[in-house]
Amino acid sequence: AKNAGGGRWAWFDPAMDRIADQDAKLGADLRQAVARGELRVVYQPIVELPDGGIAGVEALLRWRHPEHGEISPAVFIPLAERNGSIIEVGRWVFEQVVKQAAAWQHEYGDLAPARVSVNVSARQLREPGFVAEVAAVVAAAGVEPSLITAEVTETAVLGTGAALDAVRGLNALGLRVALDDFGTGQSSLSLLVDCPVDVLKVDKSFVDGVTTASPQSVIVESLITITAGLRIQAVAEGVETADQAHRLHQAGYQYAQGFHFARPMSGAELGKLLRPGPVP
Ligand code: C2E
Ligand code: CA
Ligand code: CA
Ligand code: CA
Repeated sequence: AKNAGGGRWAWFDPAMDRIADQDAKLGADLRQAVARGELRVVYQPIVELPDGGIAGVEALLRWRHPEHGEISPAVFIPLAERNGSIIEVGRWVFEQVVKQAAAWQHEYGDLAPARVSVNVSARQLREPGFVAEVAAVVAAAGVEPSLITAEVTETAVLGTGAALDAVRGLNALGLRVALDDFGTGQSSLSLLVDCPVDVLKVDKSFVDGVTTASPQSVIVESLITITAGLRIQAVAEGVETADQAHRLHQAGYQYAQGFHFARPMSGAELGKLLRPGPVP
């Protein structure tokens, strides 16, 4: 097995040369992964521009397969959505995240470090009882709901009325709502009217073009006008260079996320980063 780059999974196994078989095998493995303890959650800082202070973190799922090693969520999340195991996997992630947020809230109060974003898939949003389940998990952990941000995609929310209802339900519970990968899905500005959006995450594909005179940079700049007017926080995703960070700040962005600032890391590692050090 090998990763062919771009997050695509290429699995050259002569005994199993049909993509569908590989999918089925991996899907079956994923169903067991939770019970076998193969999953873990890592956290990537979302920072303030221009200084890079931590404003929150995004929880990202990791799977270490016993034979194939680390498999990208870009591969196994779509698989989990297809075979339905995303319900169980997503439930597990949400519980880990809420526990971690509660621990950080205990340590830092309602300060930025305890703000955790979690990705919620379309399938989870459509699952009857999802909002009630979230309410129960958040209440059981005693975590302040506004410390948790649910990241949903435009496509997920536009898909069905049930998904939009669920997002409204999460908002009513006091969770914050982020529109993820903004601009890459079935974009509809009416979503910013119909859906209670607190945060808009501007996709990396736009951020990539911000340092050149490009259509992307025009869009990145225009989104600041829209989000500022609507009192929505804008987060630039996938920032990899100082030059990009500088341009984004100049364009009015207050928040960014990307390898230039920090890579995803374990909760313990992030905790060390957050621990107040000696005053310089
Ligand atoms: P996403 O929600 O857009 O998450 C951001 C992805 O971009 C992460 O990839 C992160 O590691 C990566 N990234 C961050 N900064 C940079 C950068 O500067 N450059 C580049 N090239 N990449 C950067 P990751 O962790 O591989 O996750 C991929 C996708 O899988 C996520 O995209 C999300 O759609 C999905 N995913 C991950 N964890 C979960 C989860 O717990 N639940 C659900 N439903 N989906 C998840
Ligand atoms: Ca996300
Ligand atoms: Ca809200
Ligand atoms: Ca994203």
